[in-house]
Amino acid sequence: MYQEPLPAEYQNLPDEEIAARIRAAKATLGPKVVILGHHYQRDEIIEHADFRGDSYKLCLDAGARAEAEFIVFCGVHFMAESADILTDKRVILPNLAAGCSMADMANLFQVKACWKQLAELGVADPHPPAEHPARRGGVIPITYINSAASLKGFVGEKDGTVCTSTNAPTAVQWALEQGEKVLFFPDQHLGRNTGVKLGYDPDRDMVLWDPFKPLGGNTPERIKEATFILWKGHCSVHGRFTVEQVEKARREHPGVQVIVHPECPLDVVQASDFNGSTEVILKTVTNAPAGTTWAIGTEINLVSRLAKENRDKTIFCLDPQICPCSTMYRIHPSFLLWALENLVAGRVVNEIVVPEKTAQFARLALDRMIAIGKPKD
Ligand code: SF4
Repeated sequence: MYQEPLPAEYQNLPDEEIAARIRAAKATLGPKVVILGHHYQRDEIIEHADFRGDSYKLCLDAGARAEAEFIVFCGVHFMAESADILTDKRVILPNLAAGCSMADMANLFQVKACWKQLAELGVADPHPPAEHPARRGGVIPITYINSAASLKGFVGEKDGTVCTSTNAPTAVQWALEQGEKVLFFPDQHLGRNTGVKLGYDPDRDMVLWDPFKPLGGNTPERIKEATFILWKGHCSVHGRFTVEQVEKARREHPGVQVIVHPECPLDVVQASDFNGSTEVILKTVTNAPAGTTWAIGTEINLVSRLAKENRDKTIFCLDPQICPCSTMYRIHPSFLLWALENLVAGRVVNEIVVPEKTAQFARLALDRMIAIGKPKD
């Protein structure tokens, strides 16, 4: 989506003025608005957030605020879509250019093309599930919550589900009770790490689907043999972490404990002591005894905030180069100010609205996720 440049009066404002005007606009709007701050946002955004968390938790937090009419989601595009699907509020994304590079690696056109090829190969069921109520076999599609609403709608329509980084193993187990294979998108690493956690062999049981190649770059035989068809997508932040960084941390900090996000590559997850969602990382490190040392493989704003809030521990990012989520970073405080002051003036800018048919199927997939196993973190 295209973001118009900010009006001239919002450009080059001093930081203190931006913060003061955001506080004033928020006070004027009162309970009518709820501001959500994803963990990966900078501190200058988080200080204005009513809730901070990961995308699914934030949607639930905002949904519970009965008096709120508007959500201002300081996150990325797919998160604002999820808030529109899961709540009865109007949702604003302060900067429309705040997308997610991983979510953008799978679009509906590509996924439908993949499904058609799998159907022609005889492994995907091309028919709506209502025509096959007792279906066994076939491919069950699972989309990570970090994906466009259109893909959540696709899996809803095709009898699949959504998953988070916490409940991915439960979702995959469920899918393999319904069918023979899982088509997992858009993050290959979360799919592979989940499969390995469940005892599958990444070489024997998994194929990678490259959307730019016929049959995803695979032979028909390999697709038929595989249990997991993993979409060739990755997170530009978590995909950067390496085993060398884990080894360096262990060399330089004897006794260090390494915790990474499951969007990291398999070898990094296997070289680490723990892995889990941002909420799991947060709780594990926060609840750890004083004096412990933690090397963390996730986004730098979260790691820096954890270090500031846990001064009794040594906490650092595995990647010595700063690794922010560059798309999340597009929510500059001046965009938040612009969105809020427009709301004060009675204008709704950058509203995110998911078309109703897509939203219905996406809701079906999200409800299925909750029925299978609600994400706990
Ligand atoms: S951290 Fe990765 S998955 Fe999360 S919004 Fe940024 S690019 Fe997307």
